[in-house]
Formats: sequence, C-alpha cells, structure tokens
Amino acid sequence: MKQSTTATSKPKLTRDHTIGYYEQKRELVDIKAERPEYQDIASHVLQDVILRLKRAYDTFFRRVANGEQPGYPRFKGRNWYDSFCYPDHAGWKLDAYTYPEGTKGVVAVSLHLSKIGTVNVHLHREMEGPIKTLTIKHERGHWYCVFTCEVEPKPLPLSYEDVGIDLGVTHFAALSNGEFIDHPRYFRHAEKKLVKLQQVVSRKKRGNRRRAKAVKRLAQAHRKVRNQRRDFQHKASRTLVNRFQVIVLEDLQTKNLTKAPAPKQDEQGKYLPNGASAKAGLNKSILDAGWSTFTEMVSVKAASAGRTVIFVNPFQTSQVCSGCGAVVKKDLSERWHSCECGVELDRDTNAAKNILHLGHKALSVGTRPTRATA
Ligand SMILES: [Zn+2]
Repeated sequence: MKQSTTATSKPKLTRDHTIGYYEQKRELVDIKAERPEYQDIASHVLQDVILRLKRAYDTFFRRVANGEQPGYPRFKGRNWYDSFCYPDHAGWKLDAYTYPEGTKGVVAVSLHLSKIGTVNVHLHREMEGPIKTLTIKHERGHWYCVFTCEVEPKPLPLSYEDVGIDLGVTHFAALSNGEFIDHPRYFRHAEKKLVKLQQVVSRKKRGNRRRAKAVKRLAQAHRKVRNQRRDFQHKASRTLVNRFQVIVLEDLQTKNLTKAPAPKQDEQGKYLPNGASAKAGLNKSILDAGWSTFTEMVSVKAASAGRTVIFVNPFQTSQVCSGCGAVVKKDLSERWHSCECGVELDRDTNAAKNILHLGHKALSVGTRPTRATA
C-alpha cells in the first residue's frame, strides 16, 4: 500500500497493509522508548531478530510459490529462543590472542559484549579470515560463540579420479571404485547407551529431582553422539573432496525412504513379509547417518576446493546393472548384484557405479557447448 504524503506521525493501517522489514526496523525506535529493557540490548542485535523474521517469511512464501506445503513460521517464545546474533562488528570486541603454532589446543580469550560484560571464551581453532558475524548460542546448558569468517577458497590440484557414492545402511558409503566407508562402530555402542539412559528417565516420576539428573545425563549422551557424528562426517567428506575431482551423490529424499513399506498379501490374503522390519532398522540408521548434513559438508568443501558435486536422481540405481543396463530386481535383503552379462558386484557398489554414470551423463549434457551459441 502506498502511504499518504501528508505528515502524520504513524501510517494508518488498513487490511492490505504489509509490515515489512524496514518498517519494523524503524519501529524499534519507539519500542525502545516504550520498553526500557530493550535499551539494554545492542541495537544491531535487535535488528537481526527482525531480519530472522523476514527470512522465515521469505522462505515460507517462496516455498508456497513453488507449490510446496511449508509450515507456517512459528512464534518463538523466550524459552525457544536460544541464540542472538551480532551481524557486524558493533557491540562486541574480541581481545587479541596468539594461537600457538601447529597445535590444536584451546586458547582462552576475553570477549567483551556491550551491556552484557566480559566473558571468557575457549577458542577451539584459529580464525581463518576476517570475522563477519558473531552469534551467541545457548544449547542444552552450554553457551557457544559462533564466529563466521570470510574464507578464501583453497583450490586443490586437479584430480583425475571421479566417484559415484551410494549412501547406505550396511556401509555408510559405497564408492563406485569398490571401496567402502563404514559406519563408525561407536555409533551402535552409543545407541545402546542412549536407550538405557532413556529408560532411566522414563522410570522416574515427573518433577522428581533424580529425574532431572537423568534427563541431564541423557542430554549429555545425545550431545556426545552428535559431536562424534559431526566429526566423522567432516573427516569422511574431507577425504572424498581431497581425492576426487567429480563427486556424484544421490539427490536424497530421505522422507521417501523413511516411509513404512506397504503391506504385502498373498493370494489367500495372508500377510507376507514386506521388509518392514528391515526398513525399521534402516530408518534408525538413516537418522544415525545424517546423510543430508553429510552431502552438505561435501558440497561446501568441494566448492572451496574447486571440485564438482553433482546430485542425481537415485531412482532404480540399485536395480539396474551397471555393466549392461538390464534391470535385475532385488529386494532390500539381497546384498549382491548378479547379472546374466557376467557382472558380479556388491549391491551398493553396483548402485554407486550407476550413480557415477548418471553424473557423467548430466555433466556432458550440461557443459557441452551447442553450435547455436558458439
Ligand atoms: Zn548386466
């Protein structure tokens, strides 16, 4: 809606008036005057909150326009709000520090936050470039400072090896060259421990002090598994990016995989095994594996290293023979691909080879210059 040009103190709101980012930002001045507690918050931190709101709605409307069914942005009350962000260098200062060369130790530094005070920060790694933003985050009883830095890309020397990757359950990843990356064993151990701790929590009554203690222990165990998984994924993605020039991954739609398989019945109406229990185990491992986080890590590292990542539709990649293209039907329990053309392969290696083929196909279609444009 256009605002009238007559100088009134506030624009009159009508039904079709949209309150956007800039208008809300201007309103902060009045809000600060009305609510003194807001004066204790750095102004750029307040503006960032409005920016988050804008981003949430932008994403929402973009997905609506794409025909998706996004959830409506939720109100985040103070118990849900676990971080705030300094979008620039105003309102905070990190003391000078020297990071000991060649070590991976933790360095204690003072961080001054305006109107909050000075806090001690344990730096876990050296800043790799000029700091752009600072986010203070509270997660399960721990406070974190997250710095984002502007990092120069670090291109790696060209590699002449490409790879297709099938992310799976038996192995974390099967590579098209026949190698495997296995799930770390400690995930299973950790899983058992989580189950046990969860049981302890459920045995205790709500509001009980011991329950609170058990909840805390469970949260700690969860944090540990999460950190271990991240660590594993970082290392695995680094290995792949260092070694291969083109990395082809499945375009994951984990949602489809986690759906329960339809019940199967024989001619008399008796229920047959439909692989549901196999899939139930699969679901658990999918949640374990965090594939989408992993593919994201590969993409980010590849972008910096000058590598190419291609996502292909994994439809039928486990059924088609990578040697001759024939369809060899197998259900989930069949781990071996055996084709009449003579190809004998692990099921996942065969899939990885197909994924690589699809990637090369996409690459040749996408990059070949056409005569019309030449
Ligand atoms: Zn074949």
